[in-house]
This record gives sequence, C-alpha cells and structure tokens, in this order.
Amino acid sequence: MSSVVTLTGTSTPTPLPNRAGGGVLVQTGGLNLQIDAGRATAMRLAAVDVRPADLDGVFLTHHHSDHLQGLDDLVFSRWIDMSLRGEAGAKIRLPVIAPDGPLADFLEHLLDPWREDIKVRKADMGREDGPEMNLTLFEASRALEPVWELGDVRVLATRVQHDPVIPSVGYRIESPDGVVAITGDTTVCDEVGLLAEGADVLVHEAMLSEAVIGTPRESIMHYHSDSVGIGETAKSAGVKSLMLTHMIPAPDAIENGVARYEAAVRSGGFTGSLVVGEDLDRVEYG
Ligand SMILES: [Zn+2]
Ligand SMILES: [Zn+2]
Repeated sequence: MSSVVTLTGTSTPTPLPNRAGGGVLVQTGGLNLQIDAGRATAMRLAAVDVRPADLDGVFLTHHHSDHLQGLDDLVFSRWIDMSLRGEAGAKIRLPVIAPDGPLADFLEHLLDPWREDIKVRKADMGREDGPEMNLTLFEASRALEPVWELGDVRVLATRVQHDPVIPSVGYRIESPDGVVAITGDTTVCDEVGLLAEGADVLVHEAMLSEAVIGTPRESIMHYHSDSVGIGETAKSAGVKSLMLTHMIPAPDAIENGVARYEAAVRSGGFTGSLVVGEDLDRVEYG
C-alpha cells in the first residue's frame, strides 16, 4: 500500500487563476484527510476524484480566511451530493478537527448565512437532516500531542509561530506507510522541527525573503517562513521530501521564481527531494 500527499491549493489570499486557496490532501491508511480548505478546495479534490463525501476528516490550522474559504462548500456539497445519491445518516456530518479558540466561533456560525437555502432544500428533498459538521476541538499545545486517530492513522498537532493569529497549529500524520508533516502558516521555528522529525514528506509554507524585502509584503515577513531557514529545518529534521506551498510571492509572479526558491532552500543545506508547489503536485510515500 502506498500513500499520497496532494497539494489542493498553493495560494495565499491573493486570487490567482492557477492556484486555489491553501490546502493539502493526505491519502493514507485508506483514509482521505484534508488539511485546511481554502478557496476552490472542492474543485481540486474533484480533480483527484475525491468527493466531499469521501473525506474522513478536515483538519484546520488557524483562523485566516485563505485557509477556510472553501470549508462551507465542503460541508454543504457533501450534504447535497449524498442526499441526491440517497446516502444519509451519520456520514452526512463532515468530521472537522480544529484547535479551540477563534475557530470554534467561526465554525459555530459557518452555515448561518445559508439557513434559508438549507430550509428550502430540506423541504424540497424531504429531509430532516441538514448539512452538519462533527466537530472535534482540541487545546493547542506547544508540545506535540495526539489529537485524532482512526484505524492505523494517528494525527498529532503542535502550536507553531504565526502570531498574532493564536493559536496556529501544524499537523503530523503518522501511519504504517510513514509520516507527513504540514506546517500551516508559521515562521521557521523549533516547533516545526519537532513536527517534521524524520518525516517522509514535509509540506512547508514558504516566503522568498529576497523578493519581499522592499515591497509592501515586507510587513507580513514577521509571521512567514524564510526559504533558507526552511532548508535548514528540513535538513536537521531528516526530511526525505519537501513540498513548498503558500509561496510569497508565487513563483510564477517573479522572474526565475522556481529556481530562486530552490536555490534558497538548497543554500539552507537540504539535499532531499524538493517540490516548489503547484496545485495538484503530489508525492507518494510508503
Ligand atoms: Zn495563509
Ligand atoms: Zn495565516
């Protein structure tokens, strides 16, 4: 059995024609686990033949719009799709796992703007149940702690450094096939080293500092990850494959972008496999 990591979205809040909002699909142990659900996540999942109804868990990293704008779409589409196929019951509820804090409030009200639509569709389809989530909130810790498990798959989380968005977490997904670490948004920090220790695949947010300094984006440098530092982290954690995502700026927006990201990561000392991410890039492991 082999497992797969697919980038479902590699953008930031900036709308781009070829990059959906932030998200990663990890398929391991027979499960489909989605981390974050930015703009157009449902469309990218459809491109790899995963329906919203096929998701076994959606894990959220932090309360920033670019990681959440596709979530109501997943919840709503799962309900409609399953209803139209005559599927029902507990599986209608999308399992969503998130750190307690501002996300709890966001999730509580996620579907409020759709209540009239839900009412009309329920009457139309003769259904009692509506689109719902099965919510698991956990206390975000600075230690790496288990937050969820199903079958052979265990998910751990730790807080990362994305202040002032508190808490922000990264996830580590362990299965018999190996380990995937996903940083969410963060600076280069010790917690990511912990998250990524010995990982087969590390999906890391990335910023190319040399292309940001002196631009208006300089104001957000303090909570994102310099690519040289990412290379240092991936090297010292013994990571096999590194995938860059959420790149600031997008590599296609600057001259020789891919080569410059690669050079920065390599100068940090990382010699393993490196993907400067595009939507639907994938790495197999196990
Ligand atoms: Zn972001
Ligand atoms: Zn963020």
